[in-house]
Amino acid sequence: MDKRYKAYKGNIIYSQDKDTLISKENSYIMVFNGMVKGICKQLPEDFPEENIVDWGKRLIIPGFCDMHVHAPQFLQRGIGMDRELLDWLNTYTYPNEAKFADKDHAKKIYSAFVDELLRNGTLHVNCFPSIHYGASEILFQILEQRGLFAFTGKLNMDQNSPSYYIEDTEQSIRDTETFILQHQNTKNVKTSIVPRFSITCSEKLLAGLGELVKKYEVPVHSHMCEAVNEMKVCKELFPNYKNGADIFYKNNLLGETPTIMAHCIFMDDDVLERMDNSNCMAVHCPDATANINAGGIMPVKKLLDMGIHLAIGSDIGSGANFSIARGIASTIQHSKIRNMFDSEWEAVNLAEAFYMATRSGGRFFNQVGAFEEGYHFNALVIDDSNMYHEMELTPIERLERFCYAGDDRNICMRYILGTEVKIV
Ligand SMILES: [Zn+2]
Repeated sequence: MDKRYKAYKGNIIYSQDKDTLISKENSYIMVFNGMVKGICKQLPEDFPEENIVDWGKRLIIPGFCDMHVHAPQFLQRGIGMDRELLDWLNTYTYPNEAKFADKDHAKKIYSAFVDELLRNGTLHVNCFPSIHYGASEILFQILEQRGLFAFTGKLNMDQNSPSYYIEDTEQSIRDTETFILQHQNTKNVKTSIVPRFSITCSEKLLAGLGELVKKYEVPVHSHMCEAVNEMKVCKELFPNYKNGADIFYKNNLLGETPTIMAHCIFMDDDVLERMDNSNCMAVHCPDATANINAGGIMPVKKLLDMGIHLAIGSDIGSGANFSIARGIASTIQHSKIRNMFDSEWEAVNLAEAFYMATRSGGRFFNQVGAFEEGYHFNALVIDDSNMYHEMELTPIERLERFCYAGDDRNICMRYILGTEVKIV
């Protein structure tokens, strides 16, 4: 037996597909050089004892994926939650994000932000930055130093934005290209193109960013079909396009490369057709949907059954909670509320919501979110002993209880590529 193998023992859970949670009780995850080699009940006789990490009854699950989160909005979460989206952006968000022109401020806040992600078990993240090149670079570096698997870039907005927080179109495109070129040989963090949303981007800017997508084959991250008012303004600004998806699609920003679109609440047949593409992913952000009064709830079950790729996002700061475990519970709860008004689609279950938060959410990071051979050993150890074991519960019931009633105190270890992650 190669002495570099490690074995992690516990109650192991991961998603095989959207309908199937695999649960292996008292088993070992075999890991070589940070990569999963398989799961077994018995170790080979010659397995070196010093390479066994015994987590006893604890659960071992894949690290979570937060596929839509605004790093600069770390400061404003839970504030202005009684506002409508566009009102909230103008009153709270733009003044807050403008402060990231100060690099010292960015360094302090982004360090705390990344700590909070890790504390909550998010090991894979898709970040929205601010428009500032310097602050965006700082965020990129902190994510890379801390080892997370991440997409981030430099935000773009050149219209319908306040005078203190707006870019020149040509400069925005040039800076984005420079950002891509300066972050090409990185490890776990990759550059994405991040137009805020159609309202704040001119057609010229969108077309220019689309050219960069084709030239450098980088992913795209934006918002789409989020709120009734937002869609109304979008229609007025872009009368020659059928809908929000059409604006991105015709400017090479949807489906050319991995495309991660937050919200996707209002999905008519044309939008669904555009999103039904192996390169596209829609991110459900239940906390934000409830807080900012979008006017609807994503039809999660319908999209899952259609085979559209889905993930969960905290959407800090219109979402107020970093925990993707909590996002799993909220996804189930929101789908039940939606079902009350639209009985055509059932509520989603734990297996489906957990799949969105792990394996499905991680699909663009390449082999994260599960424990099959060839996957990265990016994992969480869940200690729920403070919830007591006097009831006979299966590991999957304990996972459910952790999502609904647990918090970061129950995450006793985080591994990225088999290395322990230190929480500051
Ligand atoms: Zn957002």
